[in-house]
Amino acid sequence: MTLLSSLGRVSRSAPLASKLLLLGTLSGGSIVAYSDSNAQAYEKEEQKKKKKKVVVLGTGWAGISFLKDLDITSYDVQVVSPQNYFAFTPLLPSVTCGTVEARSIVESVRNITKKKNGEIELWEADCVKIDPANQKVHCRPVFKDDPEASQDFSLGYDYLIVAVGAQVNTFGTPGVLENCHFLKEVEDAQRIRRGVIDCFEKAILPGLTEDQRRRKLHFVIVGGGPTGVEFAAELHDFIQEDITKIYPSVKELVRITLIQSGDHILNSFDERISSFAEQKFLRDGIDVQTGMRVLSVSDKDITVKIKSSGEIVSLPHGLILWSTGVGTRPVISDFMEQVGQEGRRALATNEWLQVKGCENVYAVGDCASIAQRKILEDIANIFKAADVDNSGTLTMEELHDVVDDILVRYPQVELYLKSQHMRNVNDLLADAEGNKRREVDIEAFKLALSEVDTQMKTLPATAQVAAQQGAYLAKCFNRMEQCKEQPEGPKRFRTGGHHQFRPFQYKHFGQFAPLGGDQAAAELPGDWVSAGKSTQWLWYSVYASKQVSWRTRALVVSDWTRRYIFGRDSSRI
Ligand code: FAD
Ligand code: MG
Repeated sequence: MTLLSSLGRVSRSAPLASKLLLLGTLSGGSIVAYSDSNAQAYEKEEQKKKKKKVVVLGTGWAGISFLKDLDITSYDVQVVSPQNYFAFTPLLPSVTCGTVEARSIVESVRNITKKKNGEIELWEADCVKIDPANQKVHCRPVFKDDPEASQDFSLGYDYLIVAVGAQVNTFGTPGVLENCHFLKEVEDAQRIRRGVIDCFEKAILPGLTEDQRRRKLHFVIVGGGPTGVEFAAELHDFIQEDITKIYPSVKELVRITLIQSGDHILNSFDERISSFAEQKFLRDGIDVQTGMRVLSVSDKDITVKIKSSGEIVSLPHGLILWSTGVGTRPVISDFMEQVGQEGRRALATNEWLQVKGCENVYAVGDCASIAQRKILEDIANIFKAADVDNSGTLTMEELHDVVDDILVRYPQVELYLKSQHMRNVNDLLADAEGNKRREVDIEAFKLALSEVDTQMKTLPATAQVAAQQGAYLAKCFNRMEQCKEQPEGPKRFRTGGHHQFRPFQYKHFGQFAPLGGDQAAAELPGDWVSAGKSTQWLWYSVYASKQVSWRTRALVVSDWTRRYIFGRDSSRI
């Protein structure tokens, strides 16, 4: 028998008394429940006040990987981003031609964060100003046409994580912003997909001359980096496999041109890969023009200068993709001015990802760049710290005690040893004839390490770097208190003691370049290069496994299967 039915029976048998009793019990209960929930809310609020406030700007690769790994029970976390979703950018080129659908590569941030054991607040807004002096960020909601939902607001922080990524870089070239497509966001990929189909629909209309049709069907890609090359390959496949079957009358008029200012495309890859890509494009009829600089773009033409001859040429176009590297977002330029870093492309951080000049602000991903400390700047301090007996020389035993700290603090040393095929630092300190030494003085020590800093490298603006930085930072935050008491980092050669954490260290897992026709090229760790159809299958499996959720993994794999069976859809929606 249920509670309600038994209460009903009581009230029917003794109407007035029982009704009063029931009312008293229920209202008493609700007062208790009310005061209970009030106490809980109060307690929650008090607990929240005690936690350090962490504000995260951006929900891209760096921001999401930080949020996924952060233990939010110790922090009060607020996230500001103009997008309430995470986009798997490496598959954006596939969205431009419908190989993969846009919704298959995005995952709602709220879906990702709700799996965390605690609460993360997310505001759909742009951070318009960072105010480090007052530890605040000023934000503007994205809903510009709703006055109630577009009021600016500010958030205070104890720690700020800047992960806003980068924006397109036009290098100030006239007409680029107005007349070119870009490929940074999901909306860009959707616009390109409609743009390509529009070019074909316009080209087949009656009344156009053949020149006009050719112009409409000339697709130009500026930038021979991985994005430009992958788009060229996708577009070629889309046109050959799907579009020309639907628009056979203009099949012969289509042209794809890839313009690159350097001498080769994919120049950040091993040269075997760039020549494989160039040969494949030659066979496919993609016109690769290297050594060309774009001077200006209009709605009909792109004007370029051929570097070798100085000749200036105008090429008619139907659609241009501008894909030439990344630039700084205005909010970052403004912040850099405030912290004395003006004129840089990205925010300079130390090796622990802290913004230089702002201890409680961290910057990760494309908006940041690590300024690795040179070993030569610290050489006297290293020598002094290692020379424990103050003899003015370092014995190999003395060196042995600090060598691990040196290798962690200055990763360029290990890179240098590898580049010189040396096994350890003792080899580096050998004399001119290659004989091992028992001890060295400061001059010999300086001389031995004088070339090491040439191996310092800036990390590329990639998802791999951004995701590893986000995860590293979350790990540091999770052990903030523990490592304050028991620092785990290397020796501080200048000031004594130890660093709280080990510095960030990037691990490169290789890179892919899909080249169309179910062929890809890959550069894998250990100088391993592979290209062809089997590499494309490796690409499929790596990119499926890297998806942020099972939902997107399932959708992406089903899109690939659908494309194999039915081809790509060319409806303009
Ligand atoms: P993003 O991922 O760009 O995220 C920035 C976040 O900040 C976004 O959520 C954005 O909405 C938000 N934001 C922007 N402005 C503000 C603001 N004012 N306030 C608050 N939030 C803001 N890398 C690879 O390693 N492999 C690849 O195959 C690869 N392919 C790519 C293909 C394409 C087409 C593109 C465009 C990039 C590719 N990359 C690839 C590079 C990779 O996407 C970037 O390096 C990576 O996205 C950088 O991560 P991030 O978190 O720094 O920035
Ligand atoms: Mg000594």
